[in-house]
Amino acid sequence: MKTRRKFLKDFGLVAGGAGFSYLTIGQHDWNEFTKKPSKSSGLSLRFKPYELHLKHVFTIAEGSRSTTPVMLTELEFDNIVGYGEASMPPYLGESHETAASFLGKVDLTQFENPFLMEDILTYVDQLVPGNYAAKASVDIALHDLVGKLIKQPWYKIWGLNPKKTPDTSFTIGIDKPDIVRAKVREAAPYRILKVKLGKGNDKEMIEAVRSESDKPICVDINQGWTDRTMALEMAHWLKEQGVVFIEQPMSKTSVDDTAWLTQNSPLPIIADEAFQTISDFKKVQGVYSGINIKLMKCGGLRSAYAMIKMARALGMKVMIGCMTETSCAVTAAAQLSPLVDWADLDGNLLIDNDIFEGVKISDGKIILPDSPGIGIRSRD
Ligand code: MG
Repeated sequence: MKTRRKFLKDFGLVAGGAGFSYLTIGQHDWNEFTKKPSKSSGLSLRFKPYELHLKHVFTIAEGSRSTTPVMLTELEFDNIVGYGEASMPPYLGESHETAASFLGKVDLTQFENPFLMEDILTYVDQLVPGNYAAKASVDIALHDLVGKLIKQPWYKIWGLNPKKTPDTSFTIGIDKPDIVRAKVREAAPYRILKVKLGKGNDKEMIEAVRSESDKPICVDINQGWTDRTMALEMAHWLKEQGVVFIEQPMSKTSVDDTAWLTQNSPLPIIADEAFQTISDFKKVQGVYSGINIKLMKCGGLRSAYAMIKMARALGMKVMIGCMTETSCAVTAAAQLSPLVDWADLDGNLLIDNDIFEGVKISDGKIILPDSPGIGIRSRD
């Protein structure tokens, strides 16, 4: 428990709470994970903070940043280790401190084996409200572990066709036209561009992209538009520019205006900020054309799979997205990608200190690794 106390002290957390005797912590260096012998043959959870460095300062309608805090998790059973990750962009309200506090409460030693996934993940989900990224880090590690124990990747366990993976879009943040043009050139290997809008220079952004490329574009407004008539005019203009859908055009609280826009828009309107977990379907049905699912918003693969099935039952479009993440969480999400209409799984490509290898992109298309679990290995 010495290492745990050091961690809690370093993060200003009060030592306390019972029941995570297998927790071992290192700091900021993957190699610093230290293993402690388990008291029983049960599941052993470890976690460690890490900071992702973005290749470019990333600007969206809500602000700019150049780093993202993540928590890396390891779940061990019978000498096999599953990897997980919580990515916590500040606007979602989670942090190294909140994730450490939540993971410190998780006691998996009560479960006989990792195959009891429903029991384990229901327990994790119900432990404390919120903390979805921290919950996702346990969910991803458990899926990785179970897949490795039965020696199959998750897309095979779910019965999905790896040839049906979509192209992934490559994200271009809000910037000056010359920088946008440079980013479009950098995105040469991708067949769809995702362009961030909503800061008053939308037409300038799209025109800069179009001066370099005629690829299909999707746009993400991040709640940046405030007027529905202007939003509809922009939707028509964007359609003429070869845009295929619009993500979160107005505030998640502008329900009536968004429903009106969706009814009249020539392009599908996708909910992101307005949609987090399965209980949000009642808020978005009839208001948006589709949803953007992210493991960090919903708590992991188990929930994401259920939400895809629910969206299809309701006749809604499905997009799978990500935060800035390592290849760990991105490859986990990619396992579900044969089920979706659009994928925006480029979070690992936007950072320069990825510690995992997994999903690959070939000619813009997602290529799932034929490796057990979520399909990753750590970079040596
Ligand atoms: Mg979005």
